[in-house]
Amino acid sequence: MAATGVIEIRGVRAARGERARGFVQIGETATGPIRIPVVIVNGAEPGPTLSLTAGVHATEYPPIDAVMRTVNELDPQHLRGAVIAVPVANTTMFASRMPFVSPIDGLNLNKIAPGNAEGTISEVLAHVLLQDIIGVSEYYIDLHGGDIGEALLPFVACSITGNADLDRKAELLARLYSPDVISLSADGATVPPFAGSIVHSAARQGIVALFAEAGGDGTLEEADVQVHVNGIKNVLRYLRAIEGAPHLVGARSKGTRRFVMRARRSGLVRLKVAIGDRIAEGQEIAEICNMFGETVEVVRSTGDGTAGLIWTHKVVNSGDPLVRCWVTELAPPLPEFDRLSDRVSEGVL
Ligand SMILES: [Zn+2]
Repeated sequence: MAATGVIEIRGVRAARGERARGFVQIGETATGPIRIPVVIVNGAEPGPTLSLTAGVHATEYPPIDAVMRTVNELDPQHLRGAVIAVPVANTTMFASRMPFVSPIDGLNLNKIAPGNAEGTISEVLAHVLLQDIIGVSEYYIDLHGGDIGEALLPFVACSITGNADLDRKAELLARLYSPDVISLSADGATVPPFAGSIVHSAARQGIVALFAEAGGDGTLEEADVQVHVNGIKNVLRYLRAIEGAPHLVGARSKGTRRFVMRARRSGLVRLKVAIGDRIAEGQEIAEICNMFGETVEVVRSTGDGTAGLIWTHKVVNSGDPLVRCWVTELAPPLPEFDRLSDRVSEGVL
């Protein structure tokens, strides 16, 4: 941000106290330009800058709706700092309703960060997001959900970088955002965010970055949208960017690892568990039956955990995944929240 408080991102420009929106061009195909929508809400008073992206996987709809709604509600006259948002990062996926990868170059935008300014359209997109949008922010949230074919238990993840101050801030914001599980991922961990993700790269640029997931399976349910809306607002309140006391939650489930149950046989799936269920080792997860209706396999849990992702396909081939469980532990209370609660009860916040 310039000293004058003006924010300008590739031609989209907002002075202090202004809202601006426009498109930033990423590349072109034979049929026209590839552009991304950018919204800047530049608050009347100085403060923190938060960037938001949704639609990195553009068939994950609740995050997209949550960013649209939250940003449209913000009043620059009553905002400290700024919010810079990309409601749909991957516009070709959005238009084509294609999950996981870009129909243009077959790349998964969340596996190629930090991208490449000279690369294919997805690689340029990763680069532009990280340099020109996330890179001018102190805080960043990448909003996701389960993709098409995935039902999901909400969680929020951040990348442990080794910078204690940065990592602590990210954990604080993750707890403020998540209604359930948080995942703190050191290098080499088996929990997200992983290397190659935008959040992983952003954290290594020194930005406090969250990877927030709610919703799934190509749906747009209000409860899932609200997880994200409440999460963004809670973070903005904590950062004192908007009025109101943050909702503080002390204890959390911290995801330490995950395990996946797969079908060994093929056929129709009769699922026996639901998302969020506590599952015990040996518990029946699903029954697979062949085309004559005979049970060919009973799939049992290989451990104790919480159902975090269910692949919603009703027919499996051998080796297909069925259920992924979180193994969690209780995260310790945060003294920062206790101090903040005191300030809230004293009427300071
Ligand atoms: Zn995603």
